[in-house]
Amino acid sequence: MITVFGSANMDLVAYVSKAPQRGETVTGREFRTIPGGKGANQAIAAARAGAKVTFLGAVGEDAFGAEMRDALAAAGVDVSLLRQVPGVSGIAHIVVDDAGGNSIIVVPGANGTISAPTSDERAVIAASQALLLQLELPMEAVIAAARAAREAGVPVILTPAPAQPLPNGLLDAVTLLIPNEHEAAGITGTATPEAAMDALLRRVDEAVITLGSEGALYGASTGERIWVPAVKVQAVDTTAAGDTFAGAFAVARAEGRDAEQALRFASTAAALSVQRPGASTSMPARAEIDAAHA
Ligand code: ADP
Repeated sequence: MITVFGSANMDLVAYVSKAPQRGETVTGREFRTIPGGKGANQAIAAARAGAKVTFLGAVGEDAFGAEMRDALAAAGVDVSLLRQVPGVSGIAHIVVDDAGGNSIIVVPGANGTISAPTSDERAVIAASQALLLQLELPMEAVIAAARAAREAGVPVILTPAPAQPLPNGLLDAVTLLIPNEHEAAGITGTATPEAAMDALLRRVDEAVITLGSEGALYGASTGERIWVPAVKVQAVDTTAAGDTFAGAFAVARAEGRDAEQALRFASTAAALSVQRPGASTSMPARAEIDAAHA
């Protein structure tokens, strides 16, 4: 069983030709509400990729919260410990323009009420094969969950997004870090993925730097380095490619695959997701990954 302790946000997406400037009103072409948040996305990605998954997090007492709980459950994710707290659910207000650019406002809502895992949540974490974390919950909560996993000998996989400084108290408890190229550069202050990898491996045992259409680079403090190219596909929407990759990578490792096999499995899953629109809506099922995974 894989546990995700993270955010659930309702994505409120407006599609416009050109994003409004300050003081300007524009008419949009389309509006969609899509269950998202990096935590919920990774939970759905891992469940679709074939694992038993428990999601730990919080939603509000609003319709968005109920919808997000249903979306997770529909993907087969265990939401029996998902907290419902007074107030609103987290939302991401997203404006997508015709050039494919976007601007995003995240309001944490219920996610911001989490300061640490409860004792029931700790028990689930301790019984997991891996704990997946991102940085959309308060930092103190992320650190507390990472430590709970570490103390129980459970591997901790962290996607360090949105980008922010990473306290040593967090990295000390992380087994595997999965930043994209920009996050890796921001964390390490280096110019190339190879240099970023060297710097990351001074702080964690294993890392994967995802490089978009250039693939993914794996490194371990033992000196092992593996680069796997991206699968050549026509990308239509790369939203949550990284979350699909992280969820699938965790599943492959939990099944005992080695780093290279896990990279190939995760790259296949992510390449399938970028060929379809949306975040959780684009994540492939295990049968599709296996069929595409040569
Ligand atoms: P993020 O979504 O976090 O920014 P990336 O853009 O690095 O992460 O993408 C994560 C992974 O998704 C990549 O390592 C790759 O395997 C896959 N991927 C992303 N973009 C493409 C693409 N255009 N074609 C094929 N695979 C892609």
